[in-house]
Amino acid sequence: MGIDGNNILAESLKKQGVEYVFGIVGIPVIETSLAFQAAGLKYIGMRNEQAACYAAQAVGYLTGKPGVCLVVSGPGLLHCIGGMANAQVNCWPLLVIAGSCPEDHEGIGGFQEWLQVESSRMYCKYAARPPSARLIPQHVEKAVRLASSGRPGVSYLDMPATLLTAEAEEDKVPLDYYTAGAIKPAHPDPALVEQAADLLVRAERPLVIVGKGAASARAEEAVRQLVDNTKIPFLPTPMGKGVVPDDSQWCVSAARTQALLQADVILLLGARLNWMLHFGQQPRYAPNVKVIQVDISAEELNNSIKSEVAVHSDIKPFTEALTKKLSEKKFSLQPAGNKWWQTLQDKQKKNTQFVEAQANDKSVPLNYYAVFKTVQANIPKDSVIVSEGANTMDIGRGILLNNQPRHRLDAGTFGTMGVGPGFAVAAAMWCRDHAPNKRVICVEGDSAFGFSGMEIETMFRYKLPVIIIIVNNNGIYSGFDKNTMKEFQSYGDVAQR
Ligand code: ADP
Ligand code: MG
Repeated sequence: MGIDGNNILAESLKKQGVEYVFGIVGIPVIETSLAFQAAGLKYIGMRNEQAACYAAQAVGYLTGKPGVCLVVSGPGLLHCIGGMANAQVNCWPLLVIAGSCPEDHEGIGGFQEWLQVESSRMYCKYAARPPSARLIPQHVEKAVRLASSGRPGVSYLDMPATLLTAEAEEDKVPLDYYTAGAIKPAHPDPALVEQAADLLVRAERPLVIVGKGAASARAEEAVRQLVDNTKIPFLPTPMGKGVVPDDSQWCVSAARTQALLQADVILLLGARLNWMLHFGQQPRYAPNVKVIQVDISAEELNNSIKSEVAVHSDIKPFTEALTKKLSEKKFSLQPAGNKWWQTLQDKQKKNTQFVEAQANDKSVPLNYYAVFKTVQANIPKDSVIVSEGANTMDIGRGILLNNQPRHRLDAGTFGTMGVGPGFAVAAAMWCRDHAPNKRVICVEGDSAFGFSGMEIETMFRYKLPVIIIIVNNNGIYSGFDKNTMKEFQSYGDVAQR
């Protein structure tokens, strides 16, 4: 019996544990999407490839398994590139599969012909075109393995029309190709755990920073235990929010600037010292701050500043080992009478009072704080919150709380606007299958929403219960007031004359 490339691809993805495919079909991948659905993969047809790519990577982050983005050749793949870069920069697992023109049309102006593997390579950990139908299972295994293991990222598989329709003898295709499956997380060197514990015990002003790497590692239980046992103040990064609940008494988000500035020892769990954390450098940090850095990527260690203790490990086993070590040393901060805790609490009180005053100001037009306070008061605590926009995202981050990990999806490390609707589609699909009563709340600036607003049609078509709130200030950043607008118009009049 013969089997074609479409069906080999579908069976291989299924075998590797892929569950969701987001995409837009056309020549030559229409039959591909049908084969996917026949194999039991969930296919969601979207309105723009970029949004489909955002959806696929969000599902990858939520589940730990790459979501697939299926698109057509040439423009279809090129529309995905922004999404691929976003996933790669965010360290989220994603597998992009694009059809490409028949191999015998290459070089003579084939329909939507483009150098697709070369175009993708910069945005990927792995980019390849399987050389024959029989070798598709091997390439799918590698693509899924690379996207999801080590530091997660992007894989790309190029599927020429001729390969998708190529027939192979079923008994010669290794459809039961092995699955590497979940790889046992890398454990830390015990000597480094000891050093980290010693440093924390001696610290006067310790701080834990919880990044989205801790969320990717699914280390929430371990990190919660560490913070609860030791009572070291912690600061989540934007998408590290919810690994430990935002309303934990040990969270010092409301004194963020102060906490970073004055900490003498920082335990950095799955966050890069990039622009979001001010590079770990002065003037935002103390000159002699000592960092205990834990990351799954060895290449990330000592980046931007030299770490005092650099640990190459998965967050979960490291945190478990550290908690154990610290409890052996009977270490725990006592907030009452502790100077560091006192400083942070005073600062938190002041900042919270400012926010409260703003939030209670109901004058029109409503200010951001008043809007978000009302939203926060009315949404279930375990909602998935999708957030983007400039002020909308920045101010919303402090007021919209997360009490579960991987429940905040935002513009991320790349600061990408237009991600929201695609992320919301993915989150709603995931909720439908895994947590049907959970709400997806999408809080968007008007300009951010405009990038991918058409995905509202996708939500409607699949009956996905997403709530979208648009904070409309009539433009990018703060928009223009009437007088400024008039001034611009008068320039236009002059130019026309
Ligand atoms: P944030 O946006 O929260 O600051 P980043 O995306 O900058 O987070 O950093 C996340 C870091 O977490 C990356 O350096 C990545 O290599 C790392 N990481 C991802 N998964 C794991 C894991 N399972 N264990 C340890 N580190 C991880
Ligand atoms: Mg705006």
